[in-house]
Amino acid sequence: MKSFWAVLVLARFAGAQTAELRVIPVQGNIYVIAGDGGNITVQTGKDGNLLVDTGLAAMAPKAMSEVRKLSRAGVYWIINTHVHPDHVGGNDAFANAVASLDINALGRQDGGQPLKIIAHENVLNRMTQPAKPGETPATGAGLPEDEFSTPFKDLRFNNEAIIIYHEPNAHTDGDSIVLFRGSDVISTGDIFTPGGYPFIDIERGGSVQGEIAALNHILDLTVPGHTQEGGTLVIPGHGRLCDEADVVEYRDMIVIVRDRVQDLIKKGQTLDQVKAAKPTLDYDTEYVSANSFVKADAFVEAIYKSLRK
Ligand SMILES: [Zn+2]
Repeated sequence: MKSFWAVLVLARFAGAQTAELRVIPVQGNIYVIAGDGGNITVQTGKDGNLLVDTGLAAMAPKAMSEVRKLSRAGVYWIINTHVHPDHVGGNDAFANAVASLDINALGRQDGGQPLKIIAHENVLNRMTQPAKPGETPATGAGLPEDEFSTPFKDLRFNNEAIIIYHEPNAHTDGDSIVLFRGSDVISTGDIFTPGGYPFIDIERGGSVQGEIAALNHILDLTVPGHTQEGGTLVIPGHGRLCDEADVVEYRDMIVIVRDRVQDLIKKGQTLDQVKAAKPTLDYDTEYVSANSFVKADAFVEAIYKSLRK
C-alpha cells in the first residue's frame, strides 16, 4: 500500500511537477504563489522574505526562483501552517539552500541570520513520528526547529507585526493561521479551501468542531471593506484569494451540514444511513467536481466521526 503522503500528493496534485507557478500581488507586503500544491504566501521587503508554507518538494526550485524575483535579500523565515506534504514539501530545499549559502538559489547576500522554520509543536511531532508503521519520518534540514506550544506566537519582520495563531484540532491538530497586521492579510492553510469541502484529517487530530471554531476565529480577525468587498484579504490553503464574505459562506455551509449530521445521529442513524440521507446534497454542485480532493461522503464521514468521538 502506498503511504498516506504518496496517496495525498498523487490524488491532489497529479501533474503538479509540470505546472507553472503564478505570483499574485495580494496587498501591502504580501504576495501569493499559486500552482505549487498548497498556496505559498510571501511577505517581502527590504529585510528579505518570509514564507507561509513551501509547497511541494518537486516544485521547490521553481518556487525559489519566484521568491528570489520578489526580493534578492533572501529567505529568513518559514512558517508552516500544518504537516501535509503539499505545504511543508519545499522546506528541505529552502533550508539546504540557505545552509549552503546558495546565492543562486536564494539570493542571500549576507550569510548572517540563519533561516528559521516555525510551526506548532504538533507539526514537528507528526513529521518526526509517523502515524503509521512504514511511513518514513522526516529528518532533513527542513524540520521546524522553532516550534511553539502556546496559543499564539508573534514576530516583527519588514517592520510588520505578524501573529501566528494555533487553531486546535481543526484541519489537523497542528494548524496555524498567520495574520499580517500591517498588510491586513490572513493566510489560513487548509482550514479554509473555498473550492471544495474541507479535508478534516481525523487521523491527524482534525475535527469539525475545531474546524468551525478556527473559521470563527478567522472571522473575528477579518474586517470588511466599505462595500463588503475587499478589506482584510484571506489567502486559503488552496484556491483563489478571498475576503471575509467568502469565509462566512464557507463557515455557514459547514455549520449547516454539521447540524444535519447531528440531527441524524440523534435519530440513531448509522454512518451508512447518514451518508445515504445526503446531508450535503444542495451544496455538492458548488463544492464537488470531478477532481475534488474531498468528496461529499468523505466530508460527511469526517463530521460523523468528529461528533461521535
Ligand atoms: Zn492540508
